[in-house]
Amino acid sequence: MMPQRFLNASHAKPKLLLVDDQRVNILVLHELFREECQVFMATNGEQAIQICQTVSPDLVLLDVHMEGIDGHEVCRRLKSDPQTGDIPIIFVTAQGAEEDEVRGLELGAVDFIVKPINAVIVKARVRTHLTLKRQSDTLRSIASLDGLTGVANRRMFNEQLELGWRQCLRDQVALSVIMIDVDYFKRYNDRYGHLQGDTCLQAVAKALDAVIKRPYDLLARYGGEEFACVLPNTSLQDAVQIAESMQASVHALQIEHLDSEIGQLVTISMGVAAMTPSKNTAAETLLEQADKQLYQAKQAGRAQVSFCSLATA
Ligand code: GH3
Ligand code: MG
Ligand code: MG
Repeated sequence: MMPQRFLNASHAKPKLLLVDDQRVNILVLHELFREECQVFMATNGEQAIQICQTVSPDLVLLDVHMEGIDGHEVCRRLKSDPQTGDIPIIFVTAQGAEEDEVRGLELGAVDFIVKPINAVIVKARVRTHLTLKRQSDTLRSIASLDGLTGVANRRMFNEQLELGWRQCLRDQVALSVIMIDVDYFKRYNDRYGHLQGDTCLQAVAKALDAVIKRPYDLLARYGGEEFACVLPNTSLQDAVQIAESMQASVHALQIEHLDSEIGQLVTISMGVAAMTPSKNTAAETLLEQADKQLYQAKQAGRAQVSFCSLATA
């Protein structure tokens, strides 16, 4: 479940990226932090950016002067990409290079340390910034969760949809969206009361979330009794299979709903849409299509999955 994922993440060792074109400098820092951090290393700017995109470190120690793309340029590129813009950066500068420090701070670095490295100072600064990062991650995750069900909220869904869209555009692979709506839920509330309605939504959310397993898949409460799921790098066929599993998972709950027209149990209807993103299309298109399919599923009698694949524009 989403909160559990966040909790696990916060108990893991923080990820620290060391960037320096002199291997010996990296080794010194590695020695200092290998116990308390998961350490990643890069010896040039391109490598540093690539690691930031793939492992999303909690902190980067970035050398200013490097062959090729220098530290300032690496910082500028990381800050201008929404995917990496929040990663805190500490610059490592030569002693007395005040201009470098000023420029680094202007570019959005959180701090700087000077070479030659003083172990006590570096450790203290790194710890401080890792603590700040953990706190801001925690706050952000709380602000991203739905209060009733504990799964992600709509804001988080929209963020992940945009992120997934960009990633799948870059890799030219399919992105799928599932829209999920509880059937005859107004009648459920009317018969069993709003409180039991809430309990039902919590159980449904848990059952849906149990189905998705990959780290980039996300289930969110989209509003009311509606949920949405974003599945990067997932074909229509695979997404439909996930939707079928969700159907089975909710059915297994066996929640009584005597006013439902379908088998006297709580059921869900789902709309699935998939496409390989193109530059001329927006992520909302995919969402609209999934919503249209959900409407189809309702029209066709509820408790079913309706789906469509979108050609790339
Ligand atoms: P359909 O099968 O067409 O989806 O019918 P429906 O009754 O599920 O759909 P409708 O949109 O008419 O009603 C949705 C109901 O969901 C109405 C609202 O009271 C209820 N609902 C929305 N949010 C919550 C909530 O947080 N808790 C509870 N208990 N009920 C909620
Ligand atoms: Mg409904
Ligand atoms: Mg609804």
